[in-house]
Amino acid sequence: MGGPIGGRDVFHIVVAMEDDPVESEAGFAGLGLRAELLSSLTSLGYEEPTPIQREAIPPLVAGNDLVGQAATGTGKTAAFALPVLQRLTVGRTDAGPAALVLVPTRELAEQVSQAVHRYGRDLGVRVLPVYGGQPIGRQLQSLRRGVDVVVGTPGRVLDHIERETLQLGEVGTVVLDEADEMLDMGFAEDIEAILAKTPAERQTVLFSATMPPRIDSIARRHLRDPVRITMGRKSVSPDELPLVRQIAYIVARAHRPAALGRILDVEAPSAAIVFCRTREEVDQVTETLNGRGYRAEALHGGMSQDQRDRVMGRLRAGSTELLVATDVAARGLDVEQLTHVINYNVPAAPEAYVHRIGRVGRAGREGCAITLAEPREQRMLKAIERLTGQRISVEKLPTVTDLRARRLELTRAALESSLETDDLERYRVVLDSLTGEFDVEDIALAAVRLLHEAAGGDADEEEIPTPAPPPPDRGPRSREVRPGGAGRSRSAPESGVTRLFFGIGRQAGLRPQDLVGAIAGESGLSAREIGAIQITDRFSLVEVPESAADMIIMAMRRSTIRGRRPTVRRERFAR
Ligand code: AMP
Repeated sequence: MGGPIGGRDVFHIVVAMEDDPVESEAGFAGLGLRAELLSSLTSLGYEEPTPIQREAIPPLVAGNDLVGQAATGTGKTAAFALPVLQRLTVGRTDAGPAALVLVPTRELAEQVSQAVHRYGRDLGVRVLPVYGGQPIGRQLQSLRRGVDVVVGTPGRVLDHIERETLQLGEVGTVVLDEADEMLDMGFAEDIEAILAKTPAERQTVLFSATMPPRIDSIARRHLRDPVRITMGRKSVSPDELPLVRQIAYIVARAHRPAALGRILDVEAPSAAIVFCRTREEVDQVTETLNGRGYRAEALHGGMSQDQRDRVMGRLRAGSTELLVATDVAARGLDVEQLTHVINYNVPAAPEAYVHRIGRVGRAGREGCAITLAEPREQRMLKAIERLTGQRISVEKLPTVTDLRARRLELTRAALESSLETDDLERYRVVLDSLTGEFDVEDIALAAVRLLHEAAGGDADEEEIPTPAPPPPDRGPRSREVRPGGAGRSRSAPESGVTRLFFGIGRQAGLRPQDLVGAIAGESGLSAREIGAIQITDRFSLVEVPESAADMIIMAMRRSTIRGRRPTVRRERFAR
């Protein structure tokens, strides 16, 4: 239902589908979640479960083990966190955690811990992130007071087990999140040691973006008859796909609002829809865009039918140029004049991308689909390409120079259209009064300048930083660790890659996974972006993308590795 049929009728279908999806059978309530969780999800503005959540939550709530193939951006955190919270006894006073989540990096430990805290707010859940580089004292204090969920990196969790500051006897669920990354970082043994300390009858959940044989082997040894979930159809038929230009920009989360503004400035769409994940995000983005001078309107499931009616009316009449919407609110919407679909983040399922871009390029008209992706979400772009069989071109964000050129182009086009269509005679008196004193070309240039400035001109803009380039998809690989490298000739790194010197080595008990964990955790780089590592007795060399080298050096200056703060710099004589 909700296909492209005449305007108003379609709108009524949209509204009929929307009486609070969170509470409806199609929403989270249909997955059997308790009231305290449903109320948190409503206040976070989640409108409906993502596909991985719809598939994973019921078997997990029922107590099954599960192997899920899902990348960042699919909503996998809620897929395991909500069942953990569902199964939690409210007001438990045990000191040891009821659930343990193992993650590869500090960044992820914080993110997952915040997510568990937000979803479990109305249950009063006690959650603690534990990772290296953070003062252990605070962690000890919280552990003594008692926690329900621990989210940690394997190294630090093992540390606590060895110090006997973390008791795992009460653990009912263990989650291995981003298992392939953890193995890539050399945490396999640590994970085995941690699992051995948990009760044999526990529930075990494994999420991984890829499923190499090593992951399968862990699943076979440690999971009992797991439910297996792999998302995604093989392909869609070409007639389901509009012919539109498909572009993606890789942008760090913090720069997304600026990037959206830059893209809109350069693309100058006549009518566009910006898709967001949650109601909250819709409201924030709408506010940001209006602050930049756009006429943007929000459309989400939390609005009354009347409000939504008025928004659609304004879009059709042309007094609104941008619609900012959730998937649920935009379902079935058919707006003739849309030229651009912009995904403020990668949609949680490749199929949702296909639905979204189907809103433009209708009836052979030109259209453009633009997606903002965080560095970690690039896998999702590949999954979308596999589904559609079409390429999404990853491009560099327009620079300030590009923007200025584009604005001049818009000024030129406005002048051209005025020369072709306007009656300019009434302005001749101004021209005549100036030609005695000034050159006609100079007068024209002054007029161009005034027009350009009136249209926004060269407002102050800053460059938006580009994150490190996407890692080559090399899959699992062994890390090169060459002992005794000091004084030995070393081959130069590949181009685009540079070698960093770390003033710490084997004598300090350093292992490759300590370096990978510290670099990934502190700089946000993915483990796959880190190249060969050489550890000698006193120092180590690590290959990293050239573009990320300075950022890593800065990040490492603020952190410790195995309790020390070693010198970190570019390797001398390195390219
Ligand atoms: P994840 O894949 O777990 O890293 O989640 C990606 C993002 O999607 C996070 O910012 C979540 O807050 C958000 N998210 C997860 N589930 C939903 C949902 N059902 N509706 C809207 N946003 C969601």
